[in-house]
Amino acid sequence: MPSYKILGTILTKRPFGESDAMIDVLTVSRGFETFVAKGAMRSRRRLVGGLEPFTRSEFTVYQSRPGKLPIVQDLKVLVSRFELYRDFEVFTRLTEVSSFLAKSLPPGVPEYEICDLFEALLSAVSAGGRAESLVLSFFLRAFGALGWRMDVGACATCRKIPEAEGDYVLDFSEGRLFCPTCRPAPSQAAVVLTSLQARALAALVLPPRLKAGIAVDPAHERTLRQLIDRYLLWHTGDTHPRHAVARGTV
Ligand SMILES: [Zn+2]
Repeated sequence: MPSYKILGTILTKRPFGESDAMIDVLTVSRGFETFVAKGAMRSRRRLVGGLEPFTRSEFTVYQSRPGKLPIVQDLKVLVSRFELYRDFEVFTRLTEVSSFLAKSLPPGVPEYEICDLFEALLSAVSAGGRAESLVLSFFLRAFGALGWRMDVGACATCRKIPEAEGDYVLDFSEGRLFCPTCRPAPSQAAVVLTSLQARALAALVLPPRLKAGIAVDPAHERTLRQLIDRYLLWHTGDTHPRHAVARGTV
């Protein structure tokens, strides 16, 4: 049966049947894909640890029958990222990104920007960047790539970066930030942010690339996480698992 090669990064691996594994992969040419790795839960020898989350590999896969999930025949590990498993917090944050991607991306549709962002995130965390801030920045950028842009780098009306003191307003329905001068009347779809919070939010999207240096004051991270979570809920009716437990009001 004909096989083909495809480049991608593993998002998640889970048991499938007695000894097989099902792996979700973010591929470069076909976006989100799910493959079956035969015997992967019994012996890791054949696929030599290349099925762990965040590993980037070149997969050789084949489809046994139309409509069946492709099966991994072989793989060549290009980047293994075992350093990301050392810190449980870091691993948990990145796993949340993986499940977000697995839930949000339609199978078989190329998502070049998301692929680039995810690789940039993994590289930046591997390089010692602060995972919490980088993940927040990733989410803001990924929303843009998925069509729910959150425009928080500057005031939506006057386009000034958030330097002025005072209360800012973040409108969830359109993902827009307003400075103290331009802010609209309060509405159900909006939250008020302090200037420090608005600055921290802007700091996540202002640098042009997702790099190890991106970090916001840890004091604001929890609030920003809740904002991003609420925004996600607003736009998808869904949320990622951690916040289902720890959600509060912003
Ligand atoms: Zn303004």
